Amino acid sequence: SLSDRLTATFKNLRGKGRLTEADVDATVREIRRALLDADVAVPVVREFTGRVRERALGAEVSGALNPSQQIVKIVNEELVEILGGETRRIRLAKSGPTVIMLAGLQGAGKTTLAGKLSKWLKAQGHSPMLVACDLQRPNAVTQLQIVGQRAKVPVFAPHPGATYTELEHPAGDPVEVARAGVEEARQKLHDVVIVDTAGRLGVDADMMEQARQIRRAIVPNEVLFVIDSMIGQDAVNTALAFDEGVNFTGIVLSKLDGDARGGAALSVASVTGKPVMFASTGEGLDDFELFHPDRMASRILDMGDVLTLIEQAEKSWDKDEAARMAKKFADQEDFTLDDFLAQMQQIRNMGSMKKMLMMMPGAQNIRQQLEQFDEREIDRVEAIVRSMTPHERVAPKIINGSRRARIARGSGVHVSEVNGLLERFAQAQKMMKKMAQGGMPGMPGMPGM
Ligand code: GDP
Ligand code: MG
Repeated sequence: SLSDRLTATFKNLRGKGRLTEADVDATVREIRRALLDADVAVPVVREFTGRVRERALGAEVSGALNPSQQIVKIVNEELVEILGGETRRIRLAKSGPTVIMLAGLQGAGKTTLAGKLSKWLKAQGHSPMLVACDLQRPNAVTQLQIVGQRAKVPVFAPHPGATYTELEHPAGDPVEVARAGVEEARQKLHDVVIVDTAGRLGVDADMMEQARQIRRAIVPNEVLFVIDSMIGQDAVNTALAFDEGVNFTGIVLSKLDGDARGGAALSVASVTGKPVMFASTGEGLDDFELFHPDRMASRILDMGDVLTLIEQAEKSWDKDEAARMAKKFADQEDFTLDDFLAQMQQIRNMGSMKKMLMMMPGAQNIRQQLEQFDEREIDRVEAIVRSMTPHERVAPKIINGSRRARIARGSGVHVSEVNGLLERFAQAQKMMKKMAQGGMPGMPGMPGM
């Protein structure tokens, strides 16, 4: 998975303050491979990685994230952006029925979607009606009627009550049926009307012309382009053809229950600039949901854990505290025991330390250290520092033998633990000085590790 591969790449990046161009390129190369594996179209991958590379090279140093996490964050943000940012809702008509037209290749999942969408709308208090305009395939009208029955939604068909045999030789004009269907919905006061159309196995001029004419006849509020997410590299050309043909307003990804990693979503959204609105995830009427760009981004990236970690780290990172530390560095002020304690508390805020670190790429390398790490250690440090006087905290040099004994008594620990803490503090202080000279605070060291 991408997760594993990035872990391998990041192994070399750990401990670095700022990423070099070579580091960024190595990471971007892995991301490129992952996107291609997820079936994102080649030109889309190229453009995408170009943008990520640019942003990664220009990224500000972050207090909360290490450089590799920063790249993942950038990748994730860019994915969400391309996929439409926020979930886009259906635009309802101001008066009369909201007209939704479905378009897409044969087998994409339009008719199934008509049922899912109408059931979903009904549950939200709408009263949808379906219109069967696929008069090309013998079974298409019957299929929509069955779907309508299941969703308990009326279906407008060319020959009401027509028998199966009659429909095998359909004579109706799809454009006329669409027009009549929308008119019927208006008269019967349905507030939403969903128009199912015919598709072909490949993009076809006649089919597109028919779809265009239907669009012109019914003036839809939304034209939803339904695309099979397993379609792979063909997604781009199909989407571009439909966009040119019917100028769709939104995308529906179907068959997301399959193995597809969702690359088609990215390709189609990227080349058309249209938002993905819904996801279809099975053959059943309820296998349908609003599309969430952020969830799809993490599916494509396949790095859910890392993304969660990044979010937690950013959330718990106290910006004021970080700014205060940065200023201290800039002013070349001394790093005190109070600062040391504040750092430890920041780390604790990040939640269960061990669990967090275990999620990090490359964690197996430090697993042994992690296993020795004890969160209670932070409590002990806190107790010890709290037993010091304010003066002792800023000038630890004055902490002599008798002071150490007093601090140990006050915090309920052995004198050797006070000694150990003071030693580790001295080391951390040295490290902070070094970092300050390097002009890069980064993640203030994890004392004690
Ligand atoms: P249309 O030609 O675009 O109207 O496509 P259909 O709605 O007839 O769907 C074609 C086939 O795909 C049918 O067998 C559906 O049951 C199936 N299908 C549609 N949507 C999904 C989906 O989200 N997941 C799965 N697994 N199958 C689906
Ligand atoms: Mg159909």
